[in-house]
Amino acid sequence: MKGNLFVVSGPSGAGKGTICKAYVEKHPEVYLSISATTRKPRAEDADGVTYFFIDEDQFRAGIAKDAFLEHAVYCDNYYGTPKEPVMKQLEAGRDVILEIESDGAMQVRSHFPEGVFIFVCPPSIEELNRRLEGRGSETPEEIQARLEKAKSEFPRAKKYNYMLMNDDVDAAVQRLEAIIAAEKCYMPRNIEFINKEFLK
Ligand code: ADP
Ligand code: 5GP
Repeated sequence: MKGNLFVVSGPSGAGKGTICKAYVEKHPEVYLSISATTRKPRAEDADGVTYFFIDEDQFRAGIAKDAFLEHAVYCDNYYGTPKEPVMKQLEAGRDVILEIESDGAMQVRSHFPEGVFIFVCPPSIEELNRRLEGRGSETPEEIQARLEKAKSEFPRAKKYNYMLMNDDVDAAVQRLEAIIAAEKCYMPRNIEFINKEFLK
């Protein structure tokens, strides 16, 4: 694997999508994986851009074919990362970002311990609630389910390499830039270059 794998996770409404979108707009050289899901598209969604929208039969067929790098059921819908495009980009040396919930992140961690796992944290539960309500994309019941789910995600925070506080979008994007830039300089990721270039 030549590219680096960055996994951005954390509770729904924390701001993962906002941060990742802003990051790849500034850094188009990084590939943001497009997930498959069985959830219904929202007004701002576009098939093949924000997600691949498929039905449950198609999703189960994908699982049977081992087409997903990871997959999870989240608030009654399936979500999964298509394996082939991600592996292709990594093999080509391109860095990849997965923006996924924590069950999926833990699956990826077991297969790719060399990945970088980043937990996006809202400033408070009250603010998380406000952001979910403000986004206006779920019913009050769905927001409640997502808040319940969030409570099961915080105990996993310690399994991540970094906490990315999202108090302010610009500051959070800068923090993500700093994490990614530092990780790319980490010696274990560069020792092959030193060996090849200077120690042959
Ligand atoms: P996630 O992808 O984690 O579910 P989103 O990126 O959709 O979260 O963000 C949830 C809502 O919060 C959106 O309406 C977004 O515009 C808003 N938001 C994101 N980051 C911030 C922030 N730092 N301050 C205020 N609102 C934010
Ligand atoms: P949403 O319905 O708000 O788009 O996404 C719900 C949750 O599913 C979010 O936390 C989002 O990060 C996560 N998610 C999106 N794509 C994937 C994926 O491919 N795999 C997993 N495990 N979670 C995903």
